[in-house]
Amino acid sequence: MKEIDFSKFSSIKIGPKVKVAEIDEICEIPKEFFLIGGANNLLVAPNPPPLALLSKRFDYIFEDEKGVHAGAAVKSGKLLSYAKKHDLKGFELLQKLPGTIGGIVKMNAGLKEFCISDNIISVLTNNGWKRKEEIDFGYRTSSIKGVIFETLFAKKEGFDTALFEIFKNLRSNQPNIPSAGSCFKNPSGDFAGRLLEQAGLKGMRIGNMAFSDIHANFLVNLGGGTYEEAITLITAAHKAVFEKFGIKLELEIKIVSKTRSADLF
Ligand SMILES: Cc1cc2nc3c(=O)[nH]c(=O)nc-3n(C[C@H](O)[C@H](O)[C@H](O)COP(=O)(O)OP(=O)(O)OC[C@H]3O[C@@H](n4cnc5c(N)ncnc54)[C@H](O)[C@@H]3O)c2cc1C
Repeated sequence: MKEIDFSKFSSIKIGPKVKVAEIDEICEIPKEFFLIGGANNLLVAPNPPPLALLSKRFDYIFEDEKGVHAGAAVKSGKLLSYAKKHDLKGFELLQKLPGTIGGIVKMNAGLKEFCISDNIISVLTNNGWKRKEEIDFGYRTSSIKGVIFETLFAKKEGFDTALFEIFKNLRSNQPNIPSAGSCFKNPSGDFAGRLLEQAGLKGMRIGNMAFSDIHANFLVNLGGGTYEEAITLITAAHKAVFEKFGIKLELEIKIVSKTRSADLF
């Protein structure tokens, strides 16, 4: 067990101090457990379900003839530095994409038309290795069930500095204060940020939580913001967009609560 204070550990700086089970070997975890990675896409309630995370045993990178192997506990910045140092292509999007490889692969995280699955060969879970063709990777989703322990990436020479610079610039409109990334997924053919802005949510504040005045889809913690304030804002935003556009936005951030499931609306 490891004690984690989510008000410090999570990117949005909200949550209780709780004991989290450390997974040290390839195994299934009980259904009632919620698996956390780096908590960059999570809003953890004061009363979370039992939590688990991978131990340092899964924090490794190595190469062989099959490709580049990354343990699921590896942080994105570490894999990006490795790719730069070894002149490998396909990892440029990890620039300022916070998370562990497990969380990033599960969410199929990415930017614009680029996503992590572009460069994946196969994924090791507690159900064994799955080839990319056996997994449905969609926009911020994957069909991967269970715990991801390792990912095998294609090994291609030539870190793309120009692409890296593009990602760097795309990040320039992101607020630099605690958040959990995009709050809602972009609905098909539109942008959640545009809808929120048009519905008057940009900059809207409740207590110490707000929708950023830089990027409307970033729910930010202005300092000491609470879970309840976050939930009130999320619910209000969902309602406002539905009333104005008839669109039911889908949450991108995950609410980790015993009593409130992801179907908040
Ligand atoms: C400033 C900021 C900018 C961001 N920008 C982007 C962006 O441009 N694009 C984007 O896609 N996201 C972005 N995000 C969101 C975040 O980076 C991604 O969602 C990332 O995938 C989260 O990884 P994590 O390890 O922190 O996962 P967590 O937030 O801890 O968990 C996310 C999900 O992954 C699951 N998970 C975690 N580890 C594993 C594992 N080993 N096996 C199976 N499931 C697992 C969890 O159960 C949960 O469902 C941003 C976040 C922040 C704070």
